[in-house]
This record gives sequence, structure tokens and C-alpha cells, in this order.
Amino acid sequence: MDLISIKRKYRNIRNSILGAFLIVCIVIFMILMREIYNEIAFEKFYLSYINLYDEIAIKEQEALEQQKAEAEKLRLEKLPNLTEQGKTNIANIYHSDTKRVFLTFDDGPSKVTPQILDTLKQEDVKATFFLLGSRVELYPDLVKREYQEGHFLASHGYSHVYSQIYASPQAVLDEYNTSITAIRNAIGEQEYNPHLFRFPGGYKGGKYASIKKEADTLLAQNDIVHVDWNCITADAAGNKTTEEFLAELDKTAPKYNSVVVLMHDAGNKQATADALPQIIAYFRDRGYTFENFYSIIK
Ligand SMILES: [Zn+2]
Repeated sequence: MDLISIKRKYRNIRNSILGAFLIVCIVIFMILMREIYNEIAFEKFYLSYINLYDEIAIKEQEALEQQKAEAEKLRLEKLPNLTEQGKTNIANIYHSDTKRVFLTFDDGPSKVTPQILDTLKQEDVKATFFLLGSRVELYPDLVKREYQEGHFLASHGYSHVYSQIYASPQAVLDEYNTSITAIRNAIGEQEYNPHLFRFPGGYKGGKYASIKKEADTLLAQNDIVHVDWNCITADAAGNKTTEEFLAELDKTAPKYNSVVVLMHDAGNKQATADALPQIIAYFRDRGYTFENFYSIIK
């Protein structure tokens, strides 16, 4: 082999090695580029996923905050607030330009209360319950139902024993406060205060007239007003038929544009629960709208 052919062979081998090296470099370069591309693509995907997750979490948080705000608004709306306007409204409770009626139930709750609540729900009427603290403690779930269904919960004292509640003006205020504590515990709302009281036996006259008058001043100093009634159904006089209820109602109701009806939902007042659909029909037929004391004490 001559020198020239040795050189040519060497050059061929060198070129082949260089070519192979170049191919290996290109392959390595391509693999690297692919890895870098994948890395960037994954990062992009990961970031977009994180952003999406953040957006969902923010939206969920916003919806939760909104739900909480709405629940709080509803809670505050159900806490009665006695303003100067409310005091004027109470003073003028039996006067109104339009026909309105307040259905009120004293001495409950009891075993007849569920039927009364069922009727009120069916007829879409909101009433006012003057609750006895001692009865509230026996039937807290019924009181909670009354509250949840939009009825106004007011105080009728704790004991309904005249010698106890009318022992002194302070005893009246004390019974108001203990009945409110019972209502608060039943409904799970420690800020609730109706600012509204109904004297057992009514405000006017009787053996305890002077104590009631002094108690009324003490109650007013504590931002509590009282209300009686201007219409009865005779359910205080024992069990009656629905016809007798309506006849009694018809003696007083037509005299007023603004009617406060006295009824009772004590345990022995089944007749009241039975007559309620007819009582509601009586007022509805005569163009009255039904209100409870939320429209007075807002
Ligand atoms: Zn009573």
C-alpha cells in the first residue's frame, strides 16, 4: 500500500468518526431540546391548573361569604327593635287607615299549638304569640318552630300566677326577663328581645291595677311596651263551638279598622285550634290583611 492510499484510508476513517460524532451530537441535542420543551409545557400546564384551582377556591369562598352575609341579614331582620316610631305605632294600635288584624295567642305553647301552627302555615298568616316562660321551657321545639315560621314571639310573663307576678312592679319586670331567657334558649338566639309584653289578665283594672300601672312605667324605662286587645273570641270563657266563636267575634271586630284578637293556645283550648280556619276566613272575607307585631316593632 502506498502512502497516498494510506492517507486516503485514514481520511475516510476520520470522516466517518466525525460524521458519527456529529450524528450523536445532533441526537443528544434533539433529546435535550425535547426534554426542555416537555419541561416548559408541563410547567405551563401545571401553572394553568393551579390558576384554575385558585379561581374555583376563590369563587367557593365568595359564595360562602355571600351565604353567610344573607343568613346574618335574615337573623338581624328577625331581631325586634323598638324605635320611637314603634312606640307611636303601639299607642295607635287600634287605629289604621286600612283594615288590618293581629291574631294573638296567649298562655302557650301547649299540645294544641302544632294544629294552630299548621293552620297558620296553610293560610299563610303570621301571628303573635304571648308566651309563658314556664310553658316555653316545656315545649322549646314548638317555640323554635313559631320563630322559624315568622311569627312574633312576645312575653306574657313566666308564671301567670297573679299573686307572684303582681307582687311588685319589679316582679313583673323579673318575669318578663325570665320569660325572655326561656325564649332565647328555645330559639338559640341570645340577642332576641321583643320589647313587647301582655299583662296576664289584661292591663286595665282588677285587684292589681295600681301595681300594673307602676310596672308599666318600669317596663317603659326598660324599653318594653305592652298591648292588650280590642276583640275577643270568647275562648277564655271555656270551650265553645266555632259558631259561638264567630258570633262573639262579630260583636267587636266590625267596630275597628285595626283589630287585635285575643285567643289562647293553652292545653285546654282545642276549640280555638278547631275554630281558627273559620276565624281567618271571617277576616279575609271582610278585606282585612293579617299582620303581626314585626310590622310595629321592627
Ligand atoms: Zn294569660
